[in-house]
Amino acid sequence: NKFIFVTGGVMSGLGKGITAASLGRLLTNAGFDVTAVKIDPYINVDAGTMNPYQHGEVYVLDDGGEVDLDLGNYERFLETDMAFDHNLTTGKIYQRVIERERAGDYLGKTVQIIPHVTDDIKRRIREAGEGHDVTLVEVGGTVGDIESMPFLEALRQFSDEEPEEDVIFAHVTLVPYAPNGEQKTKPTQHSVKELRSIGLRPDIVVGRCDDPLEPDVREKIALFCDVPTDAVFSNPDVEDIYHVPMVLEGEGMDEFVMDRLNLADRALPESER
Ligand code: ADP
Repeated sequence: NKFIFVTGGVMSGLGKGITAASLGRLLTNAGFDVTAVKIDPYINVDAGTMNPYQHGEVYVLDDGGEVDLDLGNYERFLETDMAFDHNLTTGKIYQRVIERERAGDYLGKTVQIIPHVTDDIKRRIREAGEGHDVTLVEVGGTVGDIESMPFLEALRQFSDEEPEEDVIFAHVTLVPYAPNGEQKTKPTQHSVKELRSIGLRPDIVVGRCDDPLEPDVREKIALFCDVPTDAVFSNPDVEDIYHVPMVLEGEGMDEFVMDRLNLADRALPESER
């Protein structure tokens, strides 16, 4: 089983979910069984009690799970049914850890974020991925948010526990225009620095911008974020979000990811996708 962890930098609402779902679509087209896990670091146990004006309508899964609208993107892009277990929230994780603590399951130990909360996060990610070739794990919010820290620490531990070719980190970030019309990489540099400070290194960087990234901008991101230039991808604005998979395919993101995860040999030939 392979895992693709998707984090976001600079600000939310960038298109992290759409990027992850689009990459998933390309891997599905290449013949792999892909599933997704959405991490929502808020304390609510699920989205059922959240104000739709603030958060969009609650999305109800076939198993009755009340979740974030993003799960709907995954269902549509991957043409699969998601389960409630594929949406992790801080509330859900703590609820179980506290129930276990009350039941005496921790045998008198001091219950802590590391290892008890992080262990539960890792267990849930592994369980969600069982039986699938590839599991996309999207971390909601932005790197540096206080709520997402235990999840990012769990991902760090997870990547240490798995073989290198089984885990890849993708960081989706904003590349804004300066008033003089230049694409600026500074926010990306800062958000990657933030990731590195908690022990995570992105393998690929996806720049969201109005237009494709300029070649010198890609090189600058590669240099400052310590990734090869061919690991920097553009995700420009498109008219229709269902075109994003084609854009990412044009960028070669699927090939890069399959090579890095040692999946290329098992992929369907291009003519059959
Ligand atoms: P995040 O997961 O970063 O919060 P989403 O994936 O939910 O962001 O996307 C936020 C909004 O941006 C959505 O309305 C989505 O349709 C739109 N969006 C995402 N990617 C693109 C793109 N490449 N071009 C235009 N709109 C996009």
